[in-house]
Amino acid sequence: MAKTYDYDLFVIGAGSGGVRAARVSAAHGARVAIAEEFRVGGTCVIRGCVPKKLLIYGAHFAEDLQDARRFGWDVPDCKFDWPVLRDNVLAEVERLEGIYGEILERNEVEVIHQRATVSGVNEVTLADGTKVSAGTILIATGAWPMIPDVPGAEHGITSNEVFNLDTIPKRAVIAGGGYIANEFAGIFHQLKSDVTIVNRGDRILRHYDEQVRDRLLQISLTKGIKFLFNAPFEKIEKKAEGGLVIHLAGQDPIEADLLLWAVGRVPRTPGLGLEEAGVKLGKNGAIEVDEDNQSSVPSIYAIGDVTDRVQLTPVAIREGHAFADTIFGGKPTRVDYENIPSAVFSHPPIAGVGMTEAEARERLGSVKIYTSDFRAMKNVLAGRNERALYKLVVDGENEKVVGIHMIGPDAPEILQSAAIAVKAGLTKPQFDDTVAIHPTMAEELVLMR
Ligand code: NDP
Repeated sequence: MAKTYDYDLFVIGAGSGGVRAARVSAAHGARVAIAEEFRVGGTCVIRGCVPKKLLIYGAHFAEDLQDARRFGWDVPDCKFDWPVLRDNVLAEVERLEGIYGEILERNEVEVIHQRATVSGVNEVTLADGTKVSAGTILIATGAWPMIPDVPGAEHGITSNEVFNLDTIPKRAVIAGGGYIANEFAGIFHQLKSDVTIVNRGDRILRHYDEQVRDRLLQISLTKGIKFLFNAPFEKIEKKAEGGLVIHLAGQDPIEADLLLWAVGRVPRTPGLGLEEAGVKLGKNGAIEVDEDNQSSVPSIYAIGDVTDRVQLTPVAIREGHAFADTIFGGKPTRVDYENIPSAVFSHPPIAGVGMTEAEARERLGSVKIYTSDFRAMKNVLAGRNERALYKLVVDGENEKVVGIHMIGPDAPEILQSAAIAVKAGLTKPQFDDTVAIHPTMAEELVLMR
C-alpha cells in the first residue's frame, strides 16, 4: 500500500515561485501546505521589485516636474516628503501581501506562518517543534543579500532595510555595480542624495551590452552620480556624532550617512537541514537541481533564486508553474531559459534580450550591428541632454535578430514586445517590413538601416 503523508506537497518559502507552485499544485488536486517565516509575497513583493519600482516612479517626478516647466506648466518649487512616499509604498505592499494570502486560501493551500526546516527526505519540522510529512518537499526560500566580510560591515544596510528608512540620506555610498546599485543610485540621486557607487571591478552591470552600460555610466556621471572603480572595501567606521567613514583600498576615506550593500544575493539555504537530508549544494550553497527542478534527493525539489540559475522573479514563477504541472498536473513541462529579457530600472532604464554584441562575436561566424543613437522628442523639448541608444545584434548568416539592447525612457516597456520577435527568431528584414508608429521612441526598432 502506498505510504500516506500529511501533505502531498510541502513548500518552504512563500515568495513568487513558491506561491505559484503551491497554488497550481493545489489546483491540480494536491494537498498542499506552504510555510513562510516572514511575509507572504517574498522578496519581489515585500522588499524588492514592487516597492523598488514604486520608488522609481516617485523619484522620477523630480525630473518630470522640472521638465514640465518647458511644457508650459508653472510648477512652484515643490517639496518632497519621504515619509509620504515610503508609507504609501509600504501600504501598497501590504495590500499585495493580502492578495497573495487570498490566492492561497482560495486554492485551499494551508499557510503556516513559521520557519520550516527539512528533517528527513519526506519530513519537515516547524519552528514550534511540530513535525509534518509530505510526499514532495519544494524549497523556494529565495536568496539573501550578501554582506562582505569587512570590519564594520554591520554599519551598512541591505535592500532588506532600504524601504523603511526614516530619512533620505544626504550622502549615500552604494557598494556594487549591479542591478540594485544602479537602481538605488537613481532613486537616491533624484531624491537629492549625494550618491557614490563603489565597485570592486572596473565595470557596471557586466552582463549587459557594453555600449549600453557605458551610456548609463556617462548619463549617471553627467547627472552627478559619482563612481569609484577598483575600490575594495577595507573597513567601515561609525562616528560617535553619527555618520560613517568608509575606508577603501588605494583611495581617500569617504564619509557617508548611509552605506547600502548591493553586492549580490546568495541562495538562502543555511540552516535548512538540506545537506543532512542528503541534498547536494553547489557554489554559494545553491541547491543543485536537474531540468525538472529535482535535487539529488528524489522527493526534494527547488525553484527560484535558491537554485542560483537566473535570479529573476518571472523565471522563478515559471519554474514553480512547470514544477506543479510536471509533478501534480500530469503535464511534463520544462522552462526554456533561452532569450530571457531583463531590465535595470536605472535613470534612464536599460533593457536587453538575447546576445550582447560581445557574445555574438564570440559565438557566431558573422555579426551585423545596427544602432540608433537619438534624443527622445520629449527630452529635446525639455532641454534634457540625454540620448537613448538602441542596438540590434543580427546573425550575418541568416539575418536573425539575436539580441536587442537599449537604454532610454521606457526601455523595459518597449523591449517586452520586441523580445517576442527575438524569441520567435524573426529576421532583420521582418523588422524592416514592419511599419513604424510615428512619432514614438519604439519606432527606432524598425527604422535602423
Ligand atoms: P548583481 O549581481 O546585479 O551585482 C553585484 C555587484 O556586486 C557586481 O557589481 C559585482 O561585481 C559586485 N560584487 C560581487 N561580489 C562582491 C564582493 N564580494 N565585494 C564587492 N563587490 C562585489 O547583484 P545585486 O545585489 O545588485 O542584485 C542581486 C540580484 O537580484 C541580481 O543579480 C538580479 O538577478 C536580481 N535583481 C534584479 C532586478 C531587476 O530585474 N531589475 C533588480 C534588483 C535585483 P563584479 O561585476 O565584479 O562581479
